[in-house]
Parts: sequence; structure tokens; C-alpha cells
Amino acid sequence: MSRSTFKFADWVTVPDEGAAAEYLVLCRDVIPGGDQGEHDTMCRWEYRVLDDREEADKQQKAHAEETGHRLFVERSTCYTIISPPPGSVLAGRLARQERAVAIRTH
Ligand SMILES: [Zn+2]
Repeated sequence: MSRSTFKFADWVTVPDEGAAAEYLVLCRDVIPGGDQGEHDTMCRWEYRVLDDREEADKQQKAHAEETGHRLFVERSTCYTIISPPPGSVLAGRLARQERAVAIRTH
């Protein structure tokens, strides 16, 4: 194991508060006969929202009620940051360093 890999072993993954989580719901149900009535086609309904998991769930249920479709795929994207463990000496040092950079750039 290299020294740099070991150095990050105790660090933690935390959500990036500065970035919005994205939720995507896709209907994977099949419409028998499709548009022309010959072949089955995928429904293709989808709903995308930022930072609102409940709204994604609500829209999914509304689509199910409207169409009777019950097969979905949910995808969520969560931005993260690798940080030293909270309360550690390194966490304090890193916070001071980031404040110094923020002051210099403003
Ligand atoms: Zn559908």
C-alpha cells in the first residue's frame, strides 16, 4: 500500500452541501401494441428534479395512477467530498487553509 493511499484511509465521505442532489424516475412499463398498434413500445415517461426526493416519489405515483404503469427505475446523483474525520487536527487545519484561500480570492 502506498503512503498516500494509507493517508486517506481514515477520511470520510460527506455530501457536498454546495451541490444539489438530482433524482430521476423513468417508467419502464410497456404499452401493448404501441403507437401504431403493431409492436409493444416502452412508455418512456420520465421525471427529473433537484433536491426533492418526495416530489419524485409523488410524480411517480401520479403517473401510476394515470396510466396503471407500475414498473419504474429510480436514479439519484449525490455529489460528495472526501474530508478528514470531523474534529481531527487535520480537519481544523484544512478548514483554516480553505478560509485563507477564500479571503485571498475575494
Ligand atoms: Zn409509464
